[in-house]
Amino acid sequence: MLERSAIKILILDDELFMLKLLTRMLANQGFTSVVCCDNGHDALVQVDNESTRPDLILLDLNMPGMDGIEFVRYLVDRQFTGSLILVSGEDERMLRTAEKLVQAHKIHMLGYLQKPVKPAALLAMLTQWAPPLPVKPSKVKKIYSAEEIKTAIKEGALINYYQPKVSVASGAVVGVETLVRWHHPEDGLVFPDQFISVAEAHGLINDLTRLVLLKAFAQAKIWQQAGFELRVAVNVSMDNLASLDFQDLVVKLAGETGISPHKIVLEVTESQLMGDIRVSLEILTRLRLKRFHLSIDDFGTGHSSLAQLRDIPFDELKIDQGFVHRAWKDETLRVIYDTSLALAKQLNMEAVAEGVEDRDDWDLLRHTGCDLAQGNFISKPLLAEEIPQWIEVWLKRVQTELAVADSVN
Ligand code: C2E
Ligand code: CA
Ligand code: CA
Repeated sequence: MLERSAIKILILDDELFMLKLLTRMLANQGFTSVVCCDNGHDALVQVDNESTRPDLILLDLNMPGMDGIEFVRYLVDRQFTGSLILVSGEDERMLRTAEKLVQAHKIHMLGYLQKPVKPAALLAMLTQWAPPLPVKPSKVKKIYSAEEIKTAIKEGALINYYQPKVSVASGAVVGVETLVRWHHPEDGLVFPDQFISVAEAHGLINDLTRLVLLKAFAQAKIWQQAGFELRVAVNVSMDNLASLDFQDLVVKLAGETGISPHKIVLEVTESQLMGDIRVSLEILTRLRLKRFHLSIDDFGTGHSSLAQLRDIPFDELKIDQGFVHRAWKDETLRVIYDTSLALAKQLNMEAVAEGVEDRDDWDLLRHTGCDLAQGNFISKPLLAEEIPQWIEVWLKRVQTELAVADSVN
C-alpha cells in the first residue's frame, strides 16, 4: 500500500474556493501530493507528463470550456490508468449517469461526491483507494465461422451447463436454466455470445437448439429419476420459432423422454427485429396449450417488450440482470425493477430476477416479494453432475445464512 503522501492527486475544478477546500481536506488526512488545476487543458498537461501524472483525479463535472465529460474523453484517448472521483453540484441522477459513462470507458471510478463535499465522504472513498491493476489490453473476442460451429454441433463439443433458479421465499431449488457452452479444443470454454448469433445468421440455430433440448430433456429425466423435481428451462431463439416444425420437435422430444410439459420452460427473447410474428405467435400459443411453460427473457431491454406481453401468454417474466444487480442502491434501476415485478404480479406471471450477485441483491428480492432468483450469488452455471451436490450445500446455506424461514413482506 502506498503512503498517503505518495499518492499523486490532481483536483480539477473551475472554482478556486473548491480547490482550496478540497486541498485542505486532503491535507488533513495526510494526502499532501496534491496539484490543483482550474481548467482541463492545464490538467491534461499534468496527465501527459510522466513525472506529474496523477494516480487519482478529483474531477468537477461542470466547468466552462472543457467540461468534465469531455475531459474524461481525453483521459480515455491517453489510456489513463489512474482512478477518478466525480465531484459536482448536479443531482444524484446526473452524477450516476456520468459515473456509468466513465465506467463504460473502462476508467476506474472510486465514486462520486455531491457538493458541498463532506470530509467524511471524501475520506471514505480515499481509504478504499488502491492503485488499479494495470489493465490488460482487452482481448478481442474471437468470432467463429459457421463451418467451425457446424463441426462443433456435429462432434458434440457443445455442452449444457445448468444455472439454478431458487424460490426467494423458501429457498427451495425450483429449477435450472440450460446455458450452452462450447468446449473448444484450442480455445477452452467458449461462451454463447461468441457463437449463437453466428449460428442464427447461418441457419444453424435449429440444429443447435435441437441438441440443447435433447440433452436438457435427457438430463431432466435423470434428475427426476434421482428424486430431484427440477423444472428445466431452455433458451429459444426467435429464429427457432420461424417454422411450425419447432413445436412438433419440442412435443416429440418431451414425449420420447417422458418429461411432462409443465416441467419444461422455454425462455424466449427477441434477439432481432422480427418481420412476421404470426408464426412464432402460433407456435408459442400451441406450446402453451400443451402446458409447456413460457418465459419472457431479458425483460426491460429493448428486445423484450410490452407488445410481446400483450400478444403471448407467458407464465414467467425474467427481469433482466441489468435492472437487478445494485437496484437496492440505484433509484433508477429500482424503479424499473419494481415496475417489472408489479407487471409480472398483475399479469399472474412468476417473476424471476436474474443477475443476483450479492447478499444485498438477494435481500432486495426478499423485501419486494420476487418469486424466483437466479445469479452468481446463488450459483454460477454448473455441469449437470455438479447439481446434486450443490443442492445439498445450498439447502444448508439457506438454513444457516440466508434466513429465509421468516415471513416475506
Ligand atoms: P440469458 O438467457 O440472459 O442467460 C443469463 C446469462 O447471465 C448467462 O450468460 C449467465 O451465465 C449469466 N449470469 C448468470 N448469473 C449471473 C450473475 O450473477 N451476474 C452476471 N453478470 N451474469 C450472470 P451466458 O451463459 O454467457 O449466456 C448468454 C446468453 O446466451 C444467454 O443469456 C442466452 O440468451 C444465450 N444462450 C445461452 N444458451 C443458449 C441456447 O442454448 N440457445 C440460445 N438460443 N441462446 C442461448
Ligand atoms: Ca435465458
Ligand atoms: Ca436473461
